[in-house]
Amino acid sequence: MQLFTFLLLCLLPLLASCAEDFYKLLGITRNANDKEIKKAYRQLSKKFHPDKNPGDATAEKKFVEIAEAYDVLSDSTTRKIYDQHGHEGLAQHKQGGGQHHHDPFDLFSRFFGGSGHFQHGERRGPNMEVKISVPLRDFYTGRDTDFAVEKQAICSACEGSGSADGVVETCQSCGGRGVKIQKHMLAPGIFQQVQSACDVCGGKGKSVKKPCPHCKGTRVVREPETHDLHIEKGAPRGVRITYENEAEESPDWVAGDLIVHLVEQDPGLEEEEQHRNDGTFFRRRGKDLFWREVLSLREAWMGDWTRNITHLDGHVVRLSRKRGEVVQPNQVEIVKGEGMPIWHGDREEGNDEDFGELHVEYLVILPDQMEQGMEKEFHALWDKWRKKNGVDLMQDGGRPGSKHEHTGHDEL
Ligand SMILES: [Zn+2]
Ligand SMILES: [Zn+2]
Repeated sequence: MQLFTFLLLCLLPLLASCAEDFYKLLGITRNANDKEIKKAYRQLSKKFHPDKNPGDATAEKKFVEIAEAYDVLSDSTTRKIYDQHGHEGLAQHKQGGGQHHHDPFDLFSRFFGGSGHFQHGERRGPNMEVKISVPLRDFYTGRDTDFAVEKQAICSACEGSGSADGVVETCQSCGGRGVKIQKHMLAPGIFQQVQSACDVCGGKGKSVKKPCPHCKGTRVVREPETHDLHIEKGAPRGVRITYENEAEESPDWVAGDLIVHLVEQDPGLEEEEQHRNDGTFFRRRGKDLFWREVLSLREAWMGDWTRNITHLDGHVVRLSRKRGEVVQPNQVEIVKGEGMPIWHGDREEGNDEDFGELHVEYLVILPDQMEQGMEKEFHALWDKWRKKNGVDLMQDGGRPGSKHEHTGHDEL
């Protein structure tokens, strides 16, 4: 019995502390900054929003908990209390009338606009499209990075009310409808009704005595927002990545989607590094890569050479010919498995990867000039072999019309 009590006493604090750690709930570390707390809230609140998980009680509970965690951690006073005294400390603080809690949907609407719901008929803001160019290397290796977009955001100082003191009054002039109907007399007894936006409140239906100094009463501000960007290996050029409800915000609508187009960065030829591997010297077509390799006349003809190509992730692809192996100008060699990773769109990370092909085109450069002695030797050599072993290329190649007279075409 004593042992049981002892165990119970040990377990109780454990149970209490692991009930719902706010940091764990938001997936952040204990020294996360305000930005990270906001970001975590943005991501998780969308994921667990009840309108996106209809009938899922667990998601709904989580949505409420996330809002609570955000409320506590985004306020330096309550965060301090929570850090030092945990949930118990917060409960005491609340009893003392210290903490003001948002309604979870209200909080959601402070971030994404509208009423905090995604129901039908809810007004939705326009989508926003941005282009992000990344080097070919990132398409090859995959990459986790981030980017910032400047957009209209709900003013956090006044939480989208536009008021410095939080007091918002119904517009006296239009009675809160935002529109006024004016009657014009066109002729005796004939009236025309004209409906126009209220000139006092600007059609908002509400008025604010003390405008928020941060947004000057407009309820929105322009500010940059940073998003994580996950570039999948082998993602196609121009692939679209959607960030739900991350377009421009307004208290009047639910934010639309931010759509990112990943495009391939133009090669930056101003840099002179010989072995750069950001893709400047690779070209991509779908799953295949293209490369041009230059050979000297001697190499093309006599063989016995090696080239090490630094691939996009830094690994080396070795090209070589043994002595006596000829490469024709513009010949294309296909290296299997050295193209782009093949993108399936839904591939789990860590799965076996397939790759496309690498097409190597050989360019053969003839020397412009030769040393005089060398020229003489070559000339003599050609002459000797041409007389001894002259083969008509036309005839030898079995080409049509091969019976024509020898007109000076020869192999050497
Ligand atoms: Zn404001
Ligand atoms: Zn008005």
